Amino acid sequence: MTGEAVGAVLDTTALLHWPLERLAGGVCCPAQLDELERLSPARRMLVEAAEIDWLNPSPDQLEAAKSAAASTGDLPRLSTVDLEVLALSLGLQCPLVTDDYRLQNVAMKAGIEARSLATSGAKQQWSWVWRCTGCGKEHGVDANTQRRRDGPGPTCDVCGSPTVMKRARR
Ligand SMILES: [Zn+2]
Repeated sequence: MTGEAVGAVLDTTALLHWPLERLAGGVCCPAQLDELERLSPARRMLVEAAEIDWLNPSPDQLEAAKSAAASTGDLPRLSTVDLEVLALSLGLQCPLVTDDYRLQNVAMKAGIEARSLATSGAKQQWSWVWRCTGCGKEHGVDANTQRRRDGPGPTCDVCGSPTVMKRARR
């Protein structure tokens, strides 16, 4: 065992691309197997046989992950599986292996080590807000936000125009 993944939470891209021996000792949630099944059924069968700890995050861990992702503004763009992976990493205080810059961003903000699949790369942190396309007002993201990959955000509470996701001004 190389030890590389031991004690680290692995996202689905790691399950797809890392050699099996590299995955050994990693932590994942069962929902990732369904995701993997959609992407590559053959790979799913292999990964199922790997030495991975399959854990479901607790409701408390999921809530903590939602709050953390809301605080950086990344939450609306995270999938349910993304959130579960994040919840495990935060809940167990384990490094998170992912190339998803949103997951990396939230993990780092929460004080968790984020490792990219290929390693290296300067890591920058930022936060996101909903910016009104009408009056320009910036709205924070809250933990109950609707999550979708794209599309407009909630309407502006000042002028009623749609909002779009933008990097927060510093
Ligand atoms: Zn507005």
